[in-house]
Amino acid sequence: MSLRDNFDTRPKVSEAGAVVSSGRFPKWLHRPLPVLRPLSETHGVINSNRVHTVCEEAKCPNLLECYSKKTATFLVMGKECTRNCGFCDIDFAKEPKALDGNEPERVAESAYELGLRHVVITMVARDDLPDGGAKHLVEVLQAVRKRLPAITVETLTSDFAGNFSALDLIIEEAPEIFNHNIETVRRITPQIRHKATYDRSLSLLSYVKKQKSKQLVKSGIMIGLGETKEEVTQTLQDLAEAQCDIVTIGQYLQASRKKLTVKEFIHPDVFLEYEQIGKSLGIPNLYAGPFVRSSYNSHLFVEKNNEKIVINSH
Ligand code: SF4
Repeated sequence: MSLRDNFDTRPKVSEAGAVVSSGRFPKWLHRPLPVLRPLSETHGVINSNRVHTVCEEAKCPNLLECYSKKTATFLVMGKECTRNCGFCDIDFAKEPKALDGNEPERVAESAYELGLRHVVITMVARDDLPDGGAKHLVEVLQAVRKRLPAITVETLTSDFAGNFSALDLIIEEAPEIFNHNIETVRRITPQIRHKATYDRSLSLLSYVKKQKSKQLVKSGIMIGLGETKEEVTQTLQDLAEAQCDIVTIGQYLQASRKKLTVKEFIHPDVFLEYEQIGKSLGIPNLYAGPFVRSSYNSHLFVEKNNEKIVINSH
């Protein structure tokens, strides 16, 4: 079968007759229609509490699926980012709005109303703030734990511009999972994340693990941006050496015209291959697939590994 055979240019029609794909993507990137009722309930919770989600702001391709399962990843500290990474569609602002002191409670209330047992909280990069927003993130985490004492929390952070004292605030609060995405391989990092560095991300991940060996550390990359197999393998090796417990690999998709174009749609078999390679290099939990995202189904890991997770006393 040639690569062309994997692309079906005809519109896809569901059993109900609705068009579910324009045929712009290869077959393995076509999705079923979501269940509408929980989807609109999730929207209702997000809107009524005036919180932001990375699902919406970054135009995640899993939005309909995740919202219809009543899950979402909260985006805190506003919806404007001080960086302008080539892959990410979140709005850019040199000077974003001031932090909202009521946001922690609103995020906590939203997590409560959605009935979450595991919550992923991510942030825009706030290079305009001396601590990169670390204190505010801690306040969100504390508010969520106060509202939902049995919840597990995953923080998906920026690199705090290399400010490890800011990072210490998060480590002290001990989210059940600390997540920071290295995003791509070393060579193309400057084009993908021009204000970050590959080595800074690696040192941040290993620093967290060194401070608390039982802290679960997670990272992730996107593929399809022009990287080679050797480079992906090297990145997996680097993440294994940084002692990451969990790694995700997903297909990069262009969220809007102003963002980097997709260089290649990676076949699902290649994802499986990377999963095997990562595991053989010593990464204990590796999730790879076209629609895998850093926060995609992250509650499933927590449910399956309950006994391994240090539930922090809060
Ligand atoms: S994968 Fe993550 S960011 Fe995407 S919709 Fe699901 S929860 Fe949101």
